[in-house]
Amino acid sequence: MVNVQHYLGVDVGASFIRIGVIDEGGRVIEKIKVPMPPEGDEDTVANIIIKGAKEDLAKYLPSISAVGIGSIGPLDLRTGNVIIAPNLRWRVKRFRLYAPLRTGLKLPIIIGNDAMASVWGEYLFGQGVGKNNVVYITLSTGIGMGVIVDGHLLVGKDGNAHEMGHAVVDIESDLQCGCGGYGHLEAIAGGGNIPRSARWYLEKRYRGQMSEVALMVKEGRATTPDIFNGYRKGDSFAVEFIDYVLKAIAAGVANVINAYDPEIVILGGSVFLNNSDIIMDGLNKYIKRYVVNRMPEITGTRFGDDIGIIGAAALAIRVPDSLKPFIESQEREMAASKG
Ligand SMILES: [Zn+2]
Repeated sequence: MVNVQHYLGVDVGASFIRIGVIDEGGRVIEKIKVPMPPEGDEDTVANIIIKGAKEDLAKYLPSISAVGIGSIGPLDLRTGNVIIAPNLRWRVKRFRLYAPLRTGLKLPIIIGNDAMASVWGEYLFGQGVGKNNVVYITLSTGIGMGVIVDGHLLVGKDGNAHEMGHAVVDIESDLQCGCGGYGHLEAIAGGGNIPRSARWYLEKRYRGQMSEVALMVKEGRATTPDIFNGYRKGDSFAVEFIDYVLKAIAAGVANVINAYDPEIVILGGSVFLNNSDIIMDGLNKYIKRYVVNRMPEITGTRFGDDIGIIGAAALAIRVPDSLKPFIESQEREMAASKG
């Protein structure tokens, strides 16, 4: 193993931190998964990553040449920190990644947002190979997006370009998103919000018969899988509500196609992976009514859950030009804070 180069790919999600050992060709050699703790301090996430690398994955550590991180956001890429997302209910307002990881692992650290990492992984190793205009959308606890236009990974001033989860897809909705806004795609269709969104729909819009799922939603005991299962069984409320969710997703994806004119749109994330048949059918049915540009190919990721760690490693395997100035800035910030 002495001459083999490996990379660590770390997917920091709202529910799990996944760490993978990835080879130069984007293949997963080994992986571990740690639940995101319900509460933590500024260095809890970094410490979980360091412990995983030094203990569970210790035998690979000598062959690791860099660490790529794809994290939930919002990010502050100037410092390499993460602003605590609405999906995480921690007391501290941010957690640190760059400084503690750089000090703890003594390896190059490349940080991006999770969907940004995933699109880079698809571009280097997946269905984006050979294409210059690629979009990746994760439908998971939250909704995120990564975009490559003309071969260039879009990053933005702080690392939060194209916060697609907060695209407005229902201007009449008074359902508040975790971010405080209204009518946002993530409030309607994010896996973490679907039960709340269903309850809102039941109270404000549903005029049909009470059904088994409607009753569960009313009593606050319906999970996101319960509601999708209800749709599969033809439950009258679940069918109408999920149809609304599918229209919202189609509108969101259409906004992206109209904004960036991609050759391919790749979907992933747990909500998509568990319901890809329903969501692809919904897109086929509704997206054309919202799209102006020539339709791109729309497909699911072939990497399943592993896209997060593969994408994160991809950031380290070939560092995107648009991330390089941020790494310099993170290094300067770290040196400054050490005095
Ligand atoms: Zn929002």
